[in-house]
Order: sequence, then C-alpha cells, then structure tokens
Amino acid sequence: MSSVQRELSDVVIIGSGVGGGSVAWQLAGSGAQVLVLERGPFLPREAQNWDLEEIFVRQRYKTQELWYADGRAFRPGMFYFVGGLSKFYGTAMFRFRERDFECVQHEEGESPAWPIRYAQLEPWYTLAERLFGVRGQAGIDPTEPARSAGFEHPPIPHEPVLQAIHERLQAQGLAPFAMPSAIDFGAGGRCLRCSNCDALPCKVDAKGDAEMRLIRPALEHANVELRTGVRVERLLTDDSGRRITAVDVLHDGVRKRICGKLFVLSAGAINSAALLLRSANGAHPRGLANSSDVVGRHYMTHNTTALMAVHPLRRNRTHFPKTLAVHDFYFGDPTHGYDYPLGSLQLLGKIREPMLRGPLGHLPKMLRSLLAQHSVDWYAQSEDLPDPDSRVSVRADGAINLHWKRSNLRAHQRWVAKCREILRATGYPLVLAKGFGTEVVSHQCGTVRFGADAKTSALDALCRAWDHENLYVVDAGFFPSSAAVNPALTVAAQALRVGQHIREQVL
Ligand SMILES: Cc1cc2nc3c(=O)[nH]c(=O)nc-3n(C[C@H](O)[C@H](O)[C@H](O)COP(=O)(O)OP(=O)(O)OC[C@H]3O[C@@H](n4cnc5c(N)ncnc54)[C@H](O)[C@@H]3O)c2cc1C
Repeated sequence: MSSVQRELSDVVIIGSGVGGGSVAWQLAGSGAQVLVLERGPFLPREAQNWDLEEIFVRQRYKTQELWYADGRAFRPGMFYFVGGLSKFYGTAMFRFRERDFECVQHEEGESPAWPIRYAQLEPWYTLAERLFGVRGQAGIDPTEPARSAGFEHPPIPHEPVLQAIHERLQAQGLAPFAMPSAIDFGAGGRCLRCSNCDALPCKVDAKGDAEMRLIRPALEHANVELRTGVRVERLLTDDSGRRITAVDVLHDGVRKRICGKLFVLSAGAINSAALLLRSANGAHPRGLANSSDVVGRHYMTHNTTALMAVHPLRRNRTHFPKTLAVHDFYFGDPTHGYDYPLGSLQLLGKIREPMLRGPLGHLPKMLRSLLAQHSVDWYAQSEDLPDPDSRVSVRADGAINLHWKRSNLRAHQRWVAKCREILRATGYPLVLAKGFGTEVVSHQCGTVRFGADAKTSALDALCRAWDHENLYVVDAGFFPSSAAVNPALTVAAQALRVGQHIREQVL
C-alpha cells in the first residue's frame, strides 16, 4: 500500500443505511470528525423511479453483483445507494414485542433472548419513530409493547376497499390495526398516494428512509462528511489485533487507506459479516470480531409469503395499500390448541402486472393483469430461527456464499393456511400464495450477533466487538433473533442508542 493516499478521521462509519445513518445522526454536531463511507451513489430522482418495467423487469437499481447459494449464482435483492435498503423498503415501522427480547419456544426450536430488554430500547424506539415520521395508532394491536408516548402522527386512513376489509376482520373477532408507516402523508406532506412505496424508491421524497431522515440532516453539520462510491474492502488492525486502525477502500477505482480512531461497521448484515471474514489476519485468522466463530452464522431473513386475495368481480383501486395489519396470532392460536408463535399478517404494496412476470410467468399477460387489478395483497411473516449452519461465507474468489438453512417452516405453513382462511372470510374467494426464496434478502439479520457472552456472540450489548475495543457493528447483523415483525425500526433504535453511547461515553 505504499502508493495509496492515507487520511485520518475520528469516526469512520461504513455504510449509510438505517444503522450507519442513525449513528451519524447521533454524532452530528459533536466535536468528532465523522466520515461516512458509502459504496453506492445518491439514488437519482428520475422518471424510472416509478417505472415498474424498469424496476421489476429490467431491475434497474438492483446490484449487478453475483452471490452464490451453495454453488448457484444469483443476483441478490441488494440496492447499494445512500440510505441503503431503506430507499426501497415498504415503510412498515414496527417495534419488536416485549417477548421478542426474551427466549421464546417455537414449534421447531427456540428463539434466543437478547442481551437487552424491550424497556432499554423503548426510549430509542420513541426517538426512531419521531425521526422517521412514523404514523400509527397506539392501543389496538393486541401484542403492542408498552409505549412511553403515542405516535406523533395519526395513521394513514384506509381507502374504501380496505375499510370494508377492516370491518370484516373485526366481524371475525379479530383486532386489525393501523400499520405503523413512515410516510410524509397528509396536509403539507409530500405523499401523492402513488401506489409506489414497497420495493420502489420515492421520487418525491415522501418515504421516511435513512437518506432523508438521518443522513441528510446529519450532513447539515460541518463535522459529518459523506463520501459516496467508496467500497470498503478490508478492515486492518494493529499488531496486537485489539484495535482497528484503518480500512482499505476502492474509491472510484482508486485504492486508498483511511485511518480512524473508531469504526462503526454498518454495511448490512450480509456484507458486514463478509467484510469481517475477508479481513482475517495473523492475529485473527477466522476473521475480525470472530474469536467466538459466530460471524456469518445464524443468518436469518424471515419466513415470508405474499398472498393475493382475489375477488373476480371487485376491482381494487386502492392507492395507498399498506394501512392494515393483524397480530391476533402472533404468539399462537391457543383456541385451536396451537401454543407456539405463528406470525404477522400485513398489507403489502400493491401488486401490479410487471411484478408477476417472474412468479406467474407461465400465465398469459391478460390473466396476470386481471389478477393484479382484482387483488388485495398481503404479506404473511413468521420468525426465522437462528441456526449456526445458516451462514454467510466468503468464497476463494471473494464472492459471498449464502447458505440459508430454512427453519420453523411448519409454523409458517400453518400461518399461511390460517391467513388464507382469514382472507377468504373477508369476502375474497381466491387466495394465491407464493413464498419468497433465497434471493430475497430484504430482512437479513443475525450474522454478527450481540450477546452477554463473548464465547457465543461477536458484540456486547452496546454492539461493540468483544475482540476490538474501537469497533461497533450496528446494522441488522446484531440481531440474535428475527422476531416476526419488520426489522428497520429496531435497527434504528439500537443504533441510536449506540450512537449516543459513543458520543457521551467514548469520544
Ligand atoms: C424491498 C424491501 C422492502 C422492505 N420493507 C421493509 C419494511 O417495510 N419495514 C422494515 O422494517 N424493513 C423493511 N425492509 C428491510 C429494511 O430496509 C432493512 O432492514 C434496513 O434498511 C437495514 O438497514 P441496515 O443499516 O442494517 O443495512 P442496509 O440498509 O443494507 O445498509 C448498508 C449500507 O452499507 C452500504 N455498503 C455495503 N457494503 C459496503 C462496503 N463494503 N463499503 C461501503 N458501503 C457499503 C450499502 O450500500 C448500504 O447503503 C425492506 C427491505 C427491502 C429490500
């Protein structure tokens, strides 16, 4: 590295997604020089943002990178931009339930306890909801955890088709509730109800994502700098192996070394694990932060199935579809003798014909269009349980290999069957179901787990690496379990907590 440029920052944050953005937001205005390194560019605001052919058929924004699933090459659902996956996320911003932080027995295994409890994260959930502009209504979700404050913004109201479904769910004795959603909606808000939230970027910046809500506000402070197009390739340590000293990066094709006093790794659960493994050195032959041998292991991403509830005679003209969720069976279905957790049922973004070309490519286009016009689209989600053999590893050529060992499938199948029953009873005679496979890595987590014991976890309860005094990992990799609700708010809450700790106790 003799010909490379070198520089020194107080804090180097790798990745500008929800985790990295939350720490940057916390350190903004502090005395520290903070450098955020992001491999992608800012996502351009352009007509193609809402062009379904461009996104779902030509896959304009998806990485060209190839990963491997046990030898088979695939293009993962990864989007490398400022803001990370949240540029494409569906804005469902759930808190984990109190019991999600504890050890929970499932039909096919155990969901382990977290090293922190819900009460420790509660103030940070409140802050995260405020920062992301989450809209919702407290007090109806039957599994809702205790809240120190209500939502700052009222929920997005149901459109007529969904209002009718809401009432039919209530008539079944269920407690449907307004899905908490990070959308700048309502009087003075930017949302145009364009139907393009889930899996598409927001052209009018109405989506509460990490770029809009964390990175841009942080950049208003002179002490925070964001550098795009900088891919971190490796972390380096001092001779003792205890301290991270620098990162080697490729910046628009030029190799550089960036030195720092403290490093926050937030490249996403899969990439962070891969980076730590690729950074193996003499002192850490199994990879950095990995004396426990857990880095890359326990990969989880939820068991998920898309459901299209179709009424052949009723067209669904809803514009903003994600206003409803059902959690009555989150922890089980005891009245039918099932005492293990099942999962969450949520509305999905509106499915349209181009999105069905892959899964229903064998059907004529006209039929796909008819199905999409007449469907109300749902998402059934169950917990994926951590298994050490479910694993991210790095091949000899440096590429990522993903071995997703499926878990808890019996519970998920039971949950999907139950959801079909529930949806048919709302007046939709046909319910089509399609599970998501390995390529869908949206809810990736668990690969750099935090814990109370250095022998079985990579990070302590404040996400600091047990093996390195100046390394924190704050993306969804830290999750010891996945729960059955969406991850982004929990990533934000813990990263905000860690960010404040770094600002007040470490710097
Ligand atoms: C289509 C879709 C829908 C989703 N819907 C929801 C939802 O409704 N609710 C919810 O809670 N969650 C949802 N998610 C998941 C949610 O977006 C993620 O959990 C969350 O954004 C993860 O944040 P993160 O900080 O862990 O990682 P990421 O968002 O992956 O951020 C990592 C960042 O690091 C950058 N990076 C990676 N490698 C390097 C490197 N080597 N050098 C420099 N930079 C690097 C990446 O470009 C990225 O910006 C969805 C995800 C997708 C894809």
